[in-house]
Amino acid sequence: MAVQTPFYFYDLELLENTLQALTDAVPSDNFKVHYAIKANAETRILETIRKYGLGADCVSGNEITKALECGFDASEIVLAGVGKSDAELNTAISNQIHSINCESIEELEVINEIAEQNNQVASISFRINPNVDAKTHHKITTGLSENKFGIPISEVSRAIAEIRKMPFLSLSGIHFHIGSQILSMDPFVKLCQQVNTLLDEIEEEGITLEHINVGGGLGIDYLNPDQNPIPDFEKYFAVFKEHLNLREGQTVHFELGRSVVAQCGSLITKVLYVKKGATKNFAIVDAGMTELIRPALYDSYHEMENITADPLLGNDNYSVVGPICESSDVFGELEMPITKRNDIIKIKSAGAYGQVLSSNYNLRDSAVAYYSDEQSLNVCIGKEQEALA
Ligand SMILES: *Cc1c(COP(=O)(O)O)cnc(C)c1O
Repeated sequence: MAVQTPFYFYDLELLENTLQALTDAVPSDNFKVHYAIKANAETRILETIRKYGLGADCVSGNEITKALECGFDASEIVLAGVGKSDAELNTAISNQIHSINCESIEELEVINEIAEQNNQVASISFRINPNVDAKTHHKITTGLSENKFGIPISEVSRAIAEIRKMPFLSLSGIHFHIGSQILSMDPFVKLCQQVNTLLDEIEEEGITLEHINVGGGLGIDYLNPDQNPIPDFEKYFAVFKEHLNLREGQTVHFELGRSVVAQCGSLITKVLYVKKGATKNFAIVDAGMTELIRPALYDSYHEMENITADPLLGNDNYSVVGPICESSDVFGELEMPITKRNDIIKIKSAGAYGQVLSSNYNLRDSAVAYYSDEQSLNVCIGKEQEALA
């Protein structure tokens, strides 16, 4: 049996090493890490993450259901999202999740109503838009005033006044998420400063919060995935340890997605044709933006490697492109060994926002996932396996 390309390949050993490094880096018991399921929602990935005791961060009702199915405890699940439907809120409330991160004053009213129907008091947090620049790609920036997410800081007192009138809501925390693929620690320091100011203000209103959720966003090294596969979680947590002025008994929650799963996944694709264009060579592969949309959507860089080429043949420059009928269906340009039809290209760092964002555009088949511990894989893909190991 030959394995059909393209496919996703997940290195479970790297995932576990990453999770071990992450849990080892947690500086104290009041730091709680959730995994942001939207980065990769494969059952085996979720089950592995669950083994390390992380909670779940969800952005839809179906993600809550999936988290529960994969063994996450409702008391460790949080829900965010700028447009939660009534059905999604009902899923959250009826399962009594840890916190619903509420993003508007109007949403407070809806949660209050649905909580009343469920005869429950829902634990909610305000998702605050702190107007902190994450200094990342503009399409993955979420914490600026111009972004749709969260309640503006200036509206917090009004939100507090509203919540006092709502008997089925209990305000337990505040939540932030400023963006993704953040590599400099400066935006996180700024976030801590904003949180501290806000905590003072909220305390003046006579409210002491149980938890502060600072979201996710820690970036990974897309340029050197093999040399630097595990993010510096220690440095990241140290920022919050040092800069947040927590009150007695308060917990800090994190929602890391990309930094947990990005490096353990690759997209494996076969070269269909090599075409000499008027200005460059195209290596046309059988994966496209339908399997990995990040380059098309965010101009993202992914390292690629021809894992079957003969290095003795010398190098050439290629634009690696997919088969989809869109000019943006390009994975990138690179120099690689002379490439021929049927060569196998590994597109690295595809574990986060890869498979979850896949589509069947052009009525394509869904690519399947293989895991590094599958015995049959050796036989199935033969030569590539050596390079994948
Ligand atoms: C996407 C998202 C995350 C995870 O972001 P990463 O950059 O993958 O760590 C965390 N929290 C919320 C609310 C999100 O929307």
